[in-house]
Amino acid sequence: MSLLAGLRERRHLGEVVVERDDARERVAILEEVTEAMLGCVRALVLDLDEIGAADVRAGLAETVDRLRGHVAPAALAEQATRCQHDTLTFAERERDYLGRRDAELRRIIGVLTDGLGAVGASSAAYHQRLLAKGSRLEAASRLDDLVKVRAAIATEVQALRADVAERQVEEQRATAALRSEVETLRASVAQARTEARTDPLTGAANRAAFDDELARRCQLAAAGGDGFTLIMVDVDHFKRFNDDHGHAVGDRVLTGLVAFLRARVRRDDLIARWGGEEFAVVLPGASVRVALKKVRAILRELAGTDWTIDGGRTIRFTVSAGVAAWKAGQDPAAITARADRALYKAKHAGRNRAERG
Ligand code: GH3
Ligand code: MG
Ligand code: MG
Repeated sequence: MSLLAGLRERRHLGEVVVERDDARERVAILEEVTEAMLGCVRALVLDLDEIGAADVRAGLAETVDRLRGHVAPAALAEQATRCQHDTLTFAERERDYLGRRDAELRRIIGVLTDGLGAVGASSAAYHQRLLAKGSRLEAASRLDDLVKVRAAIATEVQALRADVAERQVEEQRATAALRSEVETLRASVAQARTEARTDPLTGAANRAAFDDELARRCQLAAAGGDGFTLIMVDVDHFKRFNDDHGHAVGDRVLTGLVAFLRARVRRDDLIARWGGEEFAVVLPGASVRVALKKVRAILRELAGTDWTIDGGRTIRFTVSAGVAAWKAGQDPAAITARADRALYKAKHAGRNRAERG
């Protein structure tokens, strides 16, 4: 038996006395309370239209309308039952949905945290900061309150941005420093390479550079390229300059001779210090006749040149030369020996002259 039927029966038996005005007032209050509670339920329905929030809200509004519209009690009861069922199933779906959203958020935070841990960082301080950030994000992922989680992520992302910007500046600075270091090293290497192949006193090529160039020239000529002529030059009675004027004047003769020769041969011609006061000159493409003519003109000019030494005094010096052109089948040692023999001949013939070998 329903509550209403029971009441009716008890009233009929005289067990319950119903005061009509009192009952009406109670019904009106219950209607108001019901409407207010339905309003509360409506307000609690989250804006999740993808799981049917709009339908539930419409069902609640319809129930309120019917409550006010004096519909038949049976229809009202049916409407209330349907509304209750819809609201409860919605609440179920809402819990599910929020649970899944929460789990997704935790997964996102996990991905972020893993990503931070995986970022390779060379600077220990930077790495340390990243680790601290990672553990703070992990802690954030345990927070129940989504608002707090979002705030925590926003703070971390902001700090991360600042860190990344700082890191970029650091890297740019390090790159610039590295670049300038590389430039300095490159310049040093180039300088060292030049120095390693240069005679420090005269600036002429040294013996190692001469040996390489002579070998290269022999190979080129043997392969059908240009021939060349080698001239060995030796200062006459050089020992006397050292003995009479000191080594500084001797050095001045050597540097002066190299400058003198340099100014009178082509840019591609090689002048090398063979050793002591003996020099080798390689003239690519020159025949022995042309080379001999050239070297004799240089010798004449040199013999008439005054060289100022300390105290305004002047000295003169001469050189002897041996000239040998490359011949098919000859290696560097063979052509050097021929030029040397020609130089020896020039010395024996009285110096200040050039002979061919
Ligand atoms: P010659 O005409 O027969 O060539 O006689 P020379 O005196 O020039 O030849 P010698 O070989 O007798 O002497 C060469 C001298 O060159 C001896 C050595 O002390 C000197 N000498 C070698 N290298 C240098 C140098 O770098 N600076 C100076 N000042 N002297 C040097
Ligand atoms: Mg000499
Ligand atoms: Mg000599």
